[in-house]
Amino acid sequence: MTGTRVDRRDVAAPPPSGRDILLLAQIVDLVRTGVANTRPELEQATGLGRTVVNERLREGMDLGVLEEGGTAQAERGRPSRTVRFRSEAGLILSASFADNSVWAAVSDLDGTALLRSTADADVLQGPDVVLPIVHGQFESLLKRVAHGRSVWGVALGLPGPIDFTSGRMVAPPIMHGWDGYDVRGWFRNRYEAPVWVDNDDNLRAFGEWALDQPRDARDLLYVEIGEGIGSGLITGGRVHRGDTGAAGDIGHFRVTDDPTAVCRCGRTGCLAAVASGWGLSRILTAAAERGESPMLADLLARNGHILGLELRDAIAAGDPVTMAAVRRAARFTGLTVGGLVNFANPGTLVLGGTALLGSDVFFETFKAAVLEQAIELAAHDLVIRPSTADFEVGTVGGALLVARRLFRQDALQLWLAAGTPIGSAVRIQQLV
Ligand SMILES: [Zn+2]
Repeated sequence: MTGTRVDRRDVAAPPPSGRDILLLAQIVDLVRTGVANTRPELEQATGLGRTVVNERLREGMDLGVLEEGGTAQAERGRPSRTVRFRSEAGLILSASFADNSVWAAVSDLDGTALLRSTADADVLQGPDVVLPIVHGQFESLLKRVAHGRSVWGVALGLPGPIDFTSGRMVAPPIMHGWDGYDVRGWFRNRYEAPVWVDNDDNLRAFGEWALDQPRDARDLLYVEIGEGIGSGLITGGRVHRGDTGAAGDIGHFRVTDDPTAVCRCGRTGCLAAVASGWGLSRILTAAAERGESPMLADLLARNGHILGLELRDAIAAGDPVTMAAVRRAARFTGLTVGGLVNFANPGTLVLGGTALLGSDVFFETFKAAVLEQAIELAAHDLVIRPSTADFEVGTVGGALLVARRLFRQDALQLWLAAGTPIGSAVRIQQLV
């Protein structure tokens, strides 16, 4: 075959083909996750030749997501120049609720938090009140760290049943105004970036899993005892959401026939009715009113309620009525979670939330009940620990969720040619 050699410098490079973008997506993913960061490593990991790897790397650098790094000493042969992922190319916003507050963070594209803040926010006030609070936090954080960089993705964790595909809550038992609310659209209108809304316990589970050092492949079950009770399960490094996103909603397991255990969901006998912050508050207030505990009666008279702070004081003082209620709550929770341990067989079980505040009586009773319920095979290597970073860990999980979703190969194919996910937000979100 004859032809004229064309000097490539004389013609504009053709736009990358679909296959080129697929290969680039693969290479960006390998560099980003640290699996390969030199040309020989990339050739080995992809099975591609040097020329193709170099062409794709050039495109990744033109798009601003990759750059040349330093020099790595190879085990054999010559040292190779490294390629690095530019985690500073864009920013991720994440927020997660905890009882009466919300944590917010700005992170780089690796999911590393650059700055965090917390603010008072009660989700029961509804989205029209609460979402502007979160937005205000994001804006004030961005003012301090954005330096002209754009937001590439947003994650929000909410305490309720979320259809992860649509990002909408579905029939939350107590969160009026949130049912079907388009949280995703609300933030997308402000940042034009893809938005993911997840159950906050899923995000905390993912954050706990990611913070476990060394990060390994162990499955992790996170259980939170706060105002309500929830859980999140990480299996094979992924959040287990189930078919419709309802997985992990354990607060309304029926654990007792006690007709006085009335839950705020409207049923009786739920785990949350006897073991959540809300449930304990109800039980201890009733005990105070019946005159069963002078200390609780005094706290109720002075403060008008028995909530977290009063509970902490009563535990610290060893009030017998309080201690019995807390031990009962911890035992019901531990027996329930022990059953979940048998079912899901996690390597790590993490207990988080306000149950841990001020004393280890809840944790130790919980742990004993889990081990009493769990079968030997599920229990013998099980690590049971309190949460590491507690509530802000939801922002860690949220940022990692966005980073993973943005740089999945099927997502990269949608936005790499444009160099930014902004503008492809809806299509990126729609990926299953
Ligand atoms: Zn209930």
